[in-house]
Amino acid sequence: MFGLAQDIAAPASRKVFQQVADTLIPADQPAEFNQAIMEFGAIQCTPVKPDCLFCPLQSQCYAFQHGLISELPVKSKAKAGRTRYFHYFVLQYEDTLYMRKRGPKDIWEGLYDFALHEADSADLPARTVVDTVEALGGRIDLAQVEEPVQSLRHVLSHQKVEARFHPVKLEAPLTPKALATAGLLPYKASEIESLPKSILITNYISNIGF
Ligand code: SF4
Repeated sequence: MFGLAQDIAAPASRKVFQQVADTLIPADQPAEFNQAIMEFGAIQCTPVKPDCLFCPLQSQCYAFQHGLISELPVKSKAKAGRTRYFHYFVLQYEDTLYMRKRGPKDIWEGLYDFALHEADSADLPARTVVDTVEALGGRIDLAQVEEPVQSLRHVLSHQKVEARFHPVKLEAPLTPKALATAGLLPYKASEIESLPKSILITNYISNIGF
C-alpha cells in the first residue's frame, strides 16, 4: 500500500512499519483493526497472487499503481536457525514451584521459567540430571531419575527450542542460599498464573495442570 522498500524480515524495519501502522490503527478499536488486517491478508491481499482486480484499495495501492505487486513487500529469506536444547528442572516442594526471571541478552527476557540446563542434545545422561539437581540445592538418587515428562518444541524466527521438562519433587524446601545461587524464587500456583511467561512455559503448566 505504502511502497515501503524495507525488508519486513529485518528487526530494524519494525520501527518503520510500526510508525505507519500507528497512523492507521483507531485508538478505540485496535482489535477490530487487527482482525480486519489479518482477514484482508488472508482473503484479498494474499502473499502469493493477491486479488488486485477486485481490490477496493487498488487506486491507493502503491504496488499496484507502480507495477510492483511481485516486488513488494520485500522479505529476505530467513537464515537457517540453530536448535537449542533446554532441559528444564521443575523443582517442586509440596505446593510450591521454583521459578526464575530470565535475564537480558537472550530470548524471553524478563519472562519466568524454571531452572534451566542448556545442553548440546535432547538427551541428558542420568548422572547430569543428578548433578544438576544437586547444584540447584536439591537431592535425587540416580535410581530415581526418569525420562522427561514432556518434550515441547518452540520455533522462533532464528532459533528452535527443543525443551525437555524434568519434574523433581523435593523432600525439603530450597534454602535461601540455594535460591540465591540458582536465581530461583518460590511460587504458589495462584501466583504462577499471573507471572509473565513464554508460550512454551504456559503450555507446559497447562498440560501438567499445576
Ligand atoms: S491492489 Fe493488490 S497488492 Fe494492492 S492492496 Fe489490493 S490486493 Fe493488495
